[in-house]
Amino acid sequence: MKELTNNSGSWIVFPTMGTYLIAAVAAAIIYRIGREVMGSLRHPDEEELLDYWNGVTRDEDRAAYRQISEHLATCEQCRDRLDELRKRPGGPGAHSPMITRRY
Ligand SMILES: [Zn+2]
Repeated sequence: MKELTNNSGSWIVFPTMGTYLIAAVAAAIIYRIGREVMGSLRHPDEEELLDYWNGVTRDEDRAAYRQISEHLATCEQCRDRLDELRKRPGGPGAHSPMITRRY
């Protein structure tokens, strides 16, 4: 352990660490922005829609809840998918008195 530090610690690892740090910070920023943008563009999957509808997402992940809300506001396709999920026998519609079913 001592040898490792003496041989490469001072003049090889230090600049490399600096470069990694900048790259890591840049990657983190890009990742955060990308996730925000992609999150609202991406279609939530079936499970996410169900959790959203059941209020699980609202309770557990506020950011995700907002994203799905925004997505549903702009995506007719996913509103239709949510409708289909709600109509499914044994689905969340069966437990929620708030839903008007279409038979
Ligand atoms: Zn969608």
